[in-house]
Amino acid sequence: MLRDKSLALKVAKYINERCSRDKYTIMHVCGTHEYTITHFGIRSLIPKVDLRAGPGCPVCVASPVNIDLAVKLSLMDNVLVTTFGDMFKVRGSKFSLMDSKGMGGRVSIVYSIHDAVELARRNPDLEVVHFAIGFETTAPSTAAMILSNPPENFSIIPTHLLIPPAMLHLLNLGEVRIDGFICPGHVSTIIGVKPYLGIACSKRVPMVIAGFEPLDVLIGVAMLIDMINNGECTVKNEYTRAVRFEGNVKALEFMDKVFKVSDAYWRGIGFIPNSGLELRDEFSMFDARVKFDVNVEADYNMPPGCRCGDVLRGLIMPWECPLFAKVCTPENPVGPCMVSFEGSCSIAYKYGGFTFH
Ligand code: SF4
Ligand code: SF4
Repeated sequence: MLRDKSLALKVAKYINERCSRDKYTIMHVCGTHEYTITHFGIRSLIPKVDLRAGPGCPVCVASPVNIDLAVKLSLMDNVLVTTFGDMFKVRGSKFSLMDSKGMGGRVSIVYSIHDAVELARRNPDLEVVHFAIGFETTAPSTAAMILSNPPENFSIIPTHLLIPPAMLHLLNLGEVRIDGFICPGHVSTIIGVKPYLGIACSKRVPMVIAGFEPLDVLIGVAMLIDMINNGECTVKNEYTRAVRFEGNVKALEFMDKVFKVSDAYWRGIGFIPNSGLELRDEFSMFDARVKFDVNVEADYNMPPGCRCGDVLRGLIMPWECPLFAKVCTPENPVGPCMVSFEGSCSIAYKYGGFTFH
């Protein structure tokens, strides 16, 4: 039903009939939304709506300093670094964890933080360091694991980031005109509606939380076009089958117990106030940066010619980067947005998205 082609065409017609100006710029901040939009060719259905991808992939924006730290640790004698598959190939200032493995480093790909803790239990002679990455979607599992009394030889590199402060930051930067936001579905199942409300009201930008099917996205856009036309600067929820106003209260409690909010560095964007999660002092024994006395220089530039920063801030579409599909491909990625499955460049390369199907 949510992939019904004739219904999708009807919603697209509704949108097109209500587009009273030449262009509406709507940004989303979610890798799966970008996949749906590109894979199903949604942009081709609604030519007056400029659907821009923002920083929707936690792997693309992960701090290169943390990657460098993970690489250094993985090369130490008694350390095993665990990571999700997407993060394995992303370079820090020079090397990725995959490079480190090639140099003899100890790195394991895991599917969840539970697997990492299991490895720590089974290998008491090793220090297991988990690269704890993700937005509000994965932060609750990290928090729950820290609260579950993991073994002493387990620690994490905290790299969790928060989406609403990034949305506010992009609005404050003002580099791209943003008429409305599609808010991410999974993130919103955790945080609910409230964290977006203050931003929508103070910055006068309408927002709609949308699910991941093509009709979810199209209905979300239709709601936004109506809100923009009516000057309604609030937050509406299209994804009511999964998102409650208050979010997932239990998950939020776990996060609050374990983490404190801090400023954080987003690759391609820079420091964003209040957008990161650090372990609270009482859990610092699980912070690999405290446990190991390893120095990592904060010295990083994007690879020459790579415009991932502009892609992540919604300034250009992936195919506007001169390296796209010529020098930079998923087999030979130049920047992080081509490495990760949720990266905009990788999605554009694989699915194109120029026709609706
Ligand atoms: S975790 Fe889910 S909501 Fe967040 S960016 Fe990825 S797909 Fe979107
Ligand atoms: S195409 Fe490659 S080099 Fe260009 S912005 Fe994307 S990842 Fe970076």
